[in-house]
Amino acid sequence: MTKYPLLGMTLAELQKVVKNIGMPTFAAKQIASWLYEKKVASIDEMTNLSLKHRELLKEEYEVGGAEPVEAMRSVDGTVKYLYRTGENQFVEAVYIPDDDRATLCVSSQVGCKMNCKFCMTGKQGFTANLTANQILNQISSLPERDTLTNVVFMGMGEPLDNTEEVLKTLEVLTSSYGYGWSPKRITLSTSGLRKGLERFLEESDCHLAISLHSPISSQRADLMPAERGFSAADMVELLKNYDFSKQRRLSFEYIVFKGVNDSLIYAKELVKLLRGLDCRMNLIRFHAIPGVQLEGADMETMTTFRDYLTSHGLFSTIRASRGEDIFAACGMLSTAKKEDGEKD
Ligand code: SF4
Repeated sequence: MTKYPLLGMTLAELQKVVKNIGMPTFAAKQIASWLYEKKVASIDEMTNLSLKHRELLKEEYEVGGAEPVEAMRSVDGTVKYLYRTGENQFVEAVYIPDDDRATLCVSSQVGCKMNCKFCMTGKQGFTANLTANQILNQISSLPERDTLTNVVFMGMGEPLDNTEEVLKTLEVLTSSYGYGWSPKRITLSTSGLRKGLERFLEESDCHLAISLHSPISSQRADLMPAERGFSAADMVELLKNYDFSKQRRLSFEYIVFKGVNDSLIYAKELVKLLRGLDCRMNLIRFHAIPGVQLEGADMETMTTFRDYLTSHGLFSTIRASRGEDIFAACGMLSTAKKEDGEKD
């Protein structure tokens, strides 16, 4: 019989579980503490629950953690982990150590529906949404989990196309009954889906990064079809209703493509589009991917672009690229081959 995983459940969900099997309400907090503070691997280890209750719990539930099935190491220290999430289904998470920080880039879906032109995950197509258990497991089963300082939702998938499970994960990560992390340690990156974005802004305090890539609507729609459903201009209007000047940070991501969006005309349009928003810009170097004609701009062009933006009031940085040799850098994650391999 398939058992339900406890890992990834919110306190409210754990309260329902204990109620259903006749355990006292306070047991939900005890279970949360075993799962998220003591990080046990089995129900047997939850020794402050009575033996009878542990046996009852085990009839239908399990902790539900799963180790990564593969790891690839980059020359720069980045490690890409592969997690199995179902039959023929895999996702990747990327661990990026950097001086006093260690960031994990997690996936929220197997594949993605958004079909961004420059992204390997988009080319793979969509297979499934991950559950909160499968998202949280990328963090809790990570060999380096105790060194993590930050988590970014920038791996495979569009997190706001799986809002319910992503918000549950964020609740577990930031609640006192859960990991107890400050929301400042977590950034969610999105191409921008209106409904999901509205919920995220209302229900979470985590940082937000918007994949922009062009200030011109027709060009952005060509690069990112999501523009047709919710334009960057409309998104900016929505974002103006929120305060990003204090704890919560808003940033925009901009891959600089050679001869496409790298001239100062675009920089000028970006300044115009984002005027009035408290935000910063991350410029990202494009990593060539098979079957895509786009090329990355050179460093000199990117530096000129960055300096124009910063000197016109839009603070900008060029993001260091990590893990390119193991296909772990931005836009390079894909488990399509792995999934095809399993079917052979
Ligand atoms: Fe999906 Fe993000 Fe890739 Fe776009 S860039 S296809 S939203 S994973």
